[in-house]
Amino acid sequence: MSVLEKINAEAIIALENKYGAHNYHPLPVVLSRGEGVYVWDVDGKKYYDFLSAYSAVNQGHCHPKIVGAMVKQAQSLTLTSRAFYNDQLGPYEEYLTKYFGFDKVLPMNTGAEAVETALKLCRKWAYEVKGIAEYEAQIIVCDGNFHGRTTTIISFSNDENARKNFGPYTEGFIKIPYDSIEALEKVLQSDKNIAGFLVEPIQGEAGVYTPADDYLMRAKALCNTYNVLFIADEIQTGIARTGSLLAVCGDCTCENHCEKQVTYATPDILILGKALSGGAYPVSAVLANDAVMNVIKPGQHGSTFGGNPIAAAVAVAALEVVEEEHLAQNARVLGKLFRSKLNEYIKTSSIAHLVRGKGLLNAVVINDTEESDTAWNICMALRDNGLLAKPTHGNIIRFAPPLVMNEAQLLDCVAIIIKTLKQFEK
Ligand SMILES: *Cc1c(COP(=O)(O)O)cnc(C)c1O
Repeated sequence: MSVLEKINAEAIIALENKYGAHNYHPLPVVLSRGEGVYVWDVDGKKYYDFLSAYSAVNQGHCHPKIVGAMVKQAQSLTLTSRAFYNDQLGPYEEYLTKYFGFDKVLPMNTGAEAVETALKLCRKWAYEVKGIAEYEAQIIVCDGNFHGRTTTIISFSNDENARKNFGPYTEGFIKIPYDSIEALEKVLQSDKNIAGFLVEPIQGEAGVYTPADDYLMRAKALCNTYNVLFIADEIQTGIARTGSLLAVCGDCTCENHCEKQVTYATPDILILGKALSGGAYPVSAVLANDAVMNVIKPGQHGSTFGGNPIAAAVAVAALEVVEEEHLAQNARVLGKLFRSKLNEYIKTSSIAHLVRGKGLLNAVVINDTEESDTAWNICMALRDNGLLAKPTHGNIIRFAPPLVMNEAQLLDCVAIIIKTLKQFEK
């Protein structure tokens, strides 16, 4: 037996505490294996994964097709940098752009990098195409946003914990309330220097806030009217999570086509990450049409690993899985079942009062304050009962399993969740 195999969970946690920066507060469970909707800890205990690595593992853990593509590519070529061409990137770019209906893609690695890319692209377009005076461009963002952790991105966060003592902050952002068309219109009317509107179709980190049904469509229409780029951050909501290929697709009811086409609030810039690789590898992407993307010229933006051959091969496999296994349809059907079962329970519950979400991105709101540790304690009990989830606030628990789940498994999970919540009823 190797040294590692003999180390128990407590000892591994102690190593992280001693040698790792304390920038996370993980639930105390040490995982060593994953397959589909399940993960196993170092002691062999099996859990349903209801976080899916913040929706990166939509295709399920260690999907054989994705792992196969990764291993195959890793054995022939891993990295060339963009100083040279590699034989995987072009075919991936064609596949990805056709899949989502855009002219071009700019490949990056992490979500935050892709958001940064979108912001730079938007500003450059504002100066070179829209004609905003130099360095006057403003980008509208929403209260409660989460777009990542870079200095610029946290500059327009409301989360004091994410912001405090990381200044000075990047300028050029105007914050408005989420889900308010009136607020958006007011800024667009009064300020001629607006370059873009950056929005999450559903605010995931904030606690799975779903806006009014027509919010995105109306926001997009307003952006059109004022010649402002509509920038959708679908890093968490995209790639089938909310029951359609993208959350901006809305509640399309056509069974055959909705997986493929952006139907009603097509972004000018689409930001993808997380499930673009099925969680196997960091792959992110910024998609736009030529009128926007062509403002970027050689040397103006890039990344050593962006567009590397492993990322390209992995992303193609991950997107094929989404289509082949009808993950959008599955998320839509199981999401409805999940909310209806939990709503039934909540009617008579003294511990939970609301379930909200779309597809398989849902949250349950607990009867306690944001500052309480009740949601955390419930997640500890869920863990003991074989299901892993994480609070987004003191009183909100997000439930987002891999989309490869089947109905029997979902009903099993609903039973675990209700049983656990009942333990907390007074
Ligand atoms: C996770 C996330 C990001 C940041 O992605 P990283 O890969 O962690 O940098 C940005 N936007 C949204 C909506 C996210 O959920």
